[in-house]
Amino acid sequence: MRLSYGPVEVVRGVTFSVPAGSTTCVIGPSGSGKSTLLRGINRLHEPSGGDVLLAGTSTRGQHPDRLRRRIGMVFQHFNLFPDHTALENVALAPRTVAGVPRAEALRRAHARLAEVGLAERTDHRPRDLSGGQQQRVAIARALAMDPEVMLFDEVTSALDPELVKGVLNLMATLGRQGMTMVVVTHEMGFARRVADQVVFMDEGRVVEAGPPAQLFEQPRSERLRRFLAEVL
Ligand code: ATP
Ligand code: MG
Repeated sequence: MRLSYGPVEVVRGVTFSVPAGSTTCVIGPSGSGKSTLLRGINRLHEPSGGDVLLAGTSTRGQHPDRLRRRIGMVFQHFNLFPDHTALENVALAPRTVAGVPRAEALRRAHARLAEVGLAERTDHRPRDLSGGQQQRVAIARALAMDPEVMLFDEVTSALDPELVKGVLNLMATLGRQGMTMVVVTHEMGFARRVADQVVFMDEGRVVEAGPPAQLFEQPRSERLRRFLAEVL
């Protein structure tokens, strides 16, 4: 994929494949194009070249709204609807976008919130939840559309340190349950432990990709060695 902001090409030819049911962690320095890549995958920003294949099929001709029903995305800032309860936040898109009847949407939202450990918090509004709980609501909300793939962009970066682990554990559980995930993260421990594949980006390109043991223990490029020396 290629993607530009005006004249500046920020993603400069990135290719990798994510087998169904596997987890890919994308790592790299600030400004290397990781968020932009995710935005291109679900077409929050239109790529200038390349394609995204979902289940082996090109998505280029697909309307972004339709595509986003197949791809769940969770951001660093949870972007929950502040005036809705956790339950309503999770039930909203299935009702308004997918046309699921209200009672059914609420029932499913309840089940999703229970899955992320928030069965007791369904009637809380975002401001009455901790950052970690809000992030878990955001994850439940994305899962509520039954996506084929989940994209995560630094979802623990804005959390207090003691809340990070709960969210990472939830993501690891989703991975074990067979969710296909692309996770942009600065959490090298998570990448090492959970990823099937790690992709190291720098300056809009993939510098190295492979299993975590290979990238973390036998980095081939000087750039990755330098990056790991800085972050580990
Ligand atoms: P970080 O680890 O800090 O989140 P990143 O790898 O996610 O970094 P991106 O946010 O994808 O990096 O940004 C890649 C480049 O694109 C940066 O140089 C950034 O300044 C630029 N950029 C990002 N968003 C825009 C935008 N909306 N308009 C113009 N340039 C942008
Ligand atoms: Mg980013």
